[in-house]
Amino acid sequence: MSDARLFAVKMRAARAGEHISGAERIVPAHDIPALAAALAERALRHAKGVPDEIHLKVEEAGEIVHLEALPVSTHVTQTPAEGRAVAARLLAGAGITRIDEIMARFSETYGMRGAMLLDADTLERLEPDRARGVRATYMDAAGNGNGQDARCPRGDARKKNHFAEAVVLATKVANAPGIVGEICVSDDPDYVTGYVATKEIGYCRITTIKEKGDPCGGRIFLYRGPREGVAETIEYLQKQCVLVDNAPTSAPRQTVAASSDPPPGRSGVSPLLDEALAGDLREADSQGLLRMCRERPADILSFASNDYQNLAEDPRLKAAACAAIQRHGAGSGASRLVTGTLPEHVRLERHLASFKGTEDAVVWATGYMANVGTISALVGKGDAVFSDALNHASIIDGCRLSRADVFVYRHGDMDDLVRQLDAAGPRRRKLVVSDAVFSMDGDLLDLPAFLEVCRRAGAVSMIDEAHATGVVGATGRGLTEHFDCKPDIILGTLSKALGSEGGFVCASRTACDYLRNKSRSFIFSTAPGPGAMAAADTALSVLEAEPGRASALRAKAARFAAALNEAGVACATQSAIVPIPVGDERTACAVSAALEREGVLIPAIRYPTVARGAARLRAAVDIGKSDADLRRAAALLSAALRMPS
Ligand code: PMP
Repeated sequence: MSDARLFAVKMRAARAGEHISGAERIVPAHDIPALAAALAERALRHAKGVPDEIHLKVEEAGEIVHLEALPVSTHVTQTPAEGRAVAARLLAGAGITRIDEIMARFSETYGMRGAMLLDADTLERLEPDRARGVRATYMDAAGNGNGQDARCPRGDARKKNHFAEAVVLATKVANAPGIVGEICVSDDPDYVTGYVATKEIGYCRITTIKEKGDPCGGRIFLYRGPREGVAETIEYLQKQCVLVDNAPTSAPRQTVAASSDPPPGRSGVSPLLDEALAGDLREADSQGLLRMCRERPADILSFASNDYQNLAEDPRLKAAACAAIQRHGAGSGASRLVTGTLPEHVRLERHLASFKGTEDAVVWATGYMANVGTISALVGKGDAVFSDALNHASIIDGCRLSRADVFVYRHGDMDDLVRQLDAAGPRRRKLVVSDAVFSMDGDLLDLPAFLEVCRRAGAVSMIDEAHATGVVGATGRGLTEHFDCKPDIILGTLSKALGSEGGFVCASRTACDYLRNKSRSFIFSTAPGPGAMAAADTALSVLEAEPGRASALRAKAARFAAALNEAGVACATQSAIVPIPVGDERTACAVSAALEREGVLIPAIRYPTVARGAARLRAAVDIGKSDADLRRAAALLSAALRMPS
């Protein structure tokens, strides 16, 4: 040891008796002043608030034990159930079998400063002081300025490296006499990652081990041995000074798939592929970009659905869908050009054409397929397609798939569009495509200006009315009604205000016939089912019978934006979408999670849906929201935006 006298330095900060933050280090005497200052700074800057007490304790360290850091692995899991299954599998080697019962004990650890010490077999609690639990303390990474390992970078004590500190702690715990395992789950409701550790398996991060929003968490140490040994274990955990060699400084990029021991039925997946994929997921997770399919929460005030007119739940649509299914079956059985065309398809196409005022219409199974199949049929190699920078992904993918040269013009900037049309030079065909209502910000395309630019350039014009149909225009017929002018191709989806699913194009008879012959996503995919077609047909009838619905919906969205403005949140809308700019991805997620805890769902929209650093909340207002709902959500949202990040 280069510096014989080492000291344990501990910081603990609290406000009104509530713990805010804590840290500890083991350092040589000459480092104590700088460390004390750094720890005090850390306490003062904690996200939980400014403490009213900061305790700094400095004691000479006793005999030091050196331990090798536990090896670390990350297990990517998508659901808490999957996380628990992985924990169970990992701990089974240590004979720990009652994982579900052990995890249930986290409801008791909430608020405990220390860990719960459980008999690994009987699950009896062994800590003498149950309110406090057992604290694992007096430990540090060798190299944190304690002169123990020059290879490790010296840690910055002003910042908490949660990961490194967790590995140091887990290493000490796993080496304590009688301890056969540890399970740790954060008590932060937004942090769903936890770990299990034993000396044999090492420190195993499990990316999802609890439900988002669940505040239960803590540490559980699992002990196996005679009762007389418990005191020695606690003495070691609470008093023995430990320096951990080779502690990692950041979570590993290399990950293990959740099921490295494939469960029955999961054979055939290469562990190497899984490992690589899990690595990418881990990377996304570290940037706040990991996504998960969650079941829709019940009993929540949701601003997350595109079912703007609440027609998906409308009894008339449900009855029409059921009747069509009874008549023609749950699926259509073949593609449209084979035997898949049913009366429901024909009727809906006619109805769409009359609703939008065009000669004809074609339907696809989704709006995504309609965009991809239409753009790639209209333009090809040597042609040029011009696309607004904020167009929907399905337009972007259609442009790419077409193999035409793609020119992306600045959002809503008709001058830039003109420049790009000129720059492209003469082509067999030029196609200009734009969202009518932009899906993330809800702003409207200036359709007359757009059409004028297309006309002058001799370009085909196409708009995507996905968020305009049923929302914009005096009677909900879309942007074409709002501005009383039409492009060559009007595309839309049945899946938003029309409450069903599917995509469509309304255009001339010739253009529609052409698409039925050339659109690969129309030709090579099974026709959408009759239930969805009949439901969409009925939705059009509802909008025709109740023409005030679209303006009523827009008035609600405007009232929500006004309530937010009054609460100091800048935002505006011309449709049913109210965008609330945030910027940072993690802040957007934190605000969204805070709202969800209050029972309001407003999703955070992040890269790649929008540009990096341009994260936002996207509130979609639907016709079912009462003024009280809108006011409540606005108040909660403005409060959540003011909370410290
Ligand atoms: N276009 C736009 C503008 C959209 O927002 C969406 C759906 N998010 C689509 C097309 C795709 O429609 P669908 O969900 O029916 O595939």
